[in-house]
Amino acid sequence: MTSSSGGQRASAGSHAWALWCAVASVPAVSHFLVPASHAVAPVVMYCLVGVGAAIAMAVGVRLHRPAARAVWWLLAAGQVMYAGGDVAYFVATSGGDTSYPVLANVLYLSQYVLLAAALVLLGRRRSPQRNTAALIDTAILTVAAAVLWWVFLIHPAAAAPGFSALDRVGATIFPIMDLCVLTVAIRLVLGGGARQRSYQLLLTFLGLTLLADTAYGLLSLHGVYEIGGWSDVVYLGSYVALGAAALHPSMRQVAEPVEGRSGASLYRVGLLAVATLIAPAVLIVQNLRHAASSDLVVVTASAVLFLLVLTRMAGLVSAQRRIATTDGLTGVHTRRFLSEALHAGRERAARHGGTYALLLVDVDHFKHINDTYGHPAGDQVLRELARRLRGACRDVDVVARFGGEEFAVLVTGELPGGLSALAERLRERIAEAPVVLDGCTAIRVTVSVGAAALPGTASTEELLVAADAALYEAKRGGRNRVVLSDPAGRASVAPACGSADWLDRQIQQWATMVGEELRRRGGDLGVPAGLVIGVCAAWAVMRVAGPGRAALTVEQARAELLRCRGVQFHPYVVDEFLALESAGVIGTSELVVVPG
Ligand code: GH3
Ligand code: MG
Ligand code: MG
Repeated sequence: MTSSSGGQRASAGSHAWALWCAVASVPAVSHFLVPASHAVAPVVMYCLVGVGAAIAMAVGVRLHRPAARAVWWLLAAGQVMYAGGDVAYFVATSGGDTSYPVLANVLYLSQYVLLAAALVLLGRRRSPQRNTAALIDTAILTVAAAVLWWVFLIHPAAAAPGFSALDRVGATIFPIMDLCVLTVAIRLVLGGGARQRSYQLLLTFLGLTLLADTAYGLLSLHGVYEIGGWSDVVYLGSYVALGAAALHPSMRQVAEPVEGRSGASLYRVGLLAVATLIAPAVLIVQNLRHAASSDLVVVTASAVLFLLVLTRMAGLVSAQRRIATTDGLTGVHTRRFLSEALHAGRERAARHGGTYALLLVDVDHFKHINDTYGHPAGDQVLRELARRLRGACRDVDVVARFGGEEFAVLVTGELPGGLSALAERLRERIAEAPVVLDGCTAIRVTVSVGAAALPGTASTEELLVAADAALYEAKRGGRNRVVLSDPAGRASVAPACGSADWLDRQIQQWATMVGEELRRRGGDLGVPAGLVIGVCAAWAVMRVAGPGRAALTVEQARAELLRCRGVQFHPYVVDEFLALESAGVIGTSELVVVPG
């Protein structure tokens, strides 16, 4: 019973809009067929369609139960006002009363407010995200329309000789309200997205209403408007379209969020070009007609349009640049950007007599990851690696995707701890924790790093060749390691991870970094280099398990250093070491047991 009545209701719902169009066309057509001598019948027919549209909307909302009910109720309320305005207008004018129909105009004005509110709400639901490009385009089209409205409707109405004060207010306020509705309608359309039949009918209603209002305004201004003229055909068409929009089943989807568009299709560019040419075209026409009273407004509008177009162009240029310099998959820079940055880095190094450095980071056995877990998983791994690389580098370093599963880091300026410390840090950040896919699959990933630093007199190609040779050596040496290219550009294998040489090098690197920090902070603090090395070595010893003793945890090692602060170790050195350790710059790696 329930499902059969539901089915009947769905079937009735899917055809209700066509039924409404057929039924509404009867009084609409009769309105024009009834002889003009008949005073009441055409008016009744006209009002029937208006009121019918409001009822159709209420039926549509009850029948289809859309999620965005407020939008449709606002539209329906607007139509009630409009139909009420029509009735009040005809009642006021039918008795030969020539005074201004105040009630009708108040009702008409309320309709604009409700309609604009419905469109704003609908626009927000369809495009909830901010879209600056669409806003600028809306502003361009609105300013262009405002020029036309001002020159041909608003200004002549405001200055018309035979108009009473109330007529003048009415003749200017309605085009202004139309402009407001047009603005929100343009924003709605520029938001893009699917154009369901109901949405198309809604746009038809808006187009016809604005066309009819403009025609009515122009005809009234020139004293040739008469009831039953062609502008009334357009009004009646708009009522039918609005009722059909609410009764069509696709009205449920009209307010669903759509994909934001901010590009500039050829069609959009053409439209904007026409809009920007309107102001100068109007200026020419006005001058030919020797009617230059609005020149100042039109010239100002031209300037505003010019600035809006410039702003839009700046947005497009920066969006294109962003696309060209940001890797779509990982969000780090592209190779194109790296190439520019390499040249800039070389020039800077040449100017200051320093070096510039490049790290090439290649994922080990990445093909195996793809083959085992699939390409989408491989993509996820690349995204996570890029995130870790960015996190381990300084803001001034340029992290880029060099090729498929290869990243590059350009380092310029002073690097605390030296290049090998940074390279080692990158390698550790990636090796220390597996990449977890979808919260369950953990993939252990390692990288090999080739590093090279050359003076600014060396070309960027030389730097790339040196880093690449070092990377090749790292792969050849067994992967998951760092190889530094020596100053002559030859690759030298770094000591094996965990060996005594490796630990020695770590301690030296930490000591250099702490020493540099101390100098940077307080000039010459008079701390002997041996004391700095002492603190670093103590940390390494505490963090490494030795014969018969376990490694201390980070917290235990910190507590031990603080206990010795000012007693066994220089307080400044302890403070600086712990500050750098807390910042994750040094001493973070899980040190491995140094073989006996
Ligand atoms: P090696 O340790 O020698 O570097 O081995 P490898 O498997 O990492 O090296 P190889 O160059 O043979 O494989 C790189 C693979 O990376 C091959 C290619 O399918 C894959 N790859 C390249 N770009 C992408 C990408 O954007 N996404 C995914 N998922 N895979 C990619
Ligand atoms: Mg690889
Ligand atoms: Mg590779």
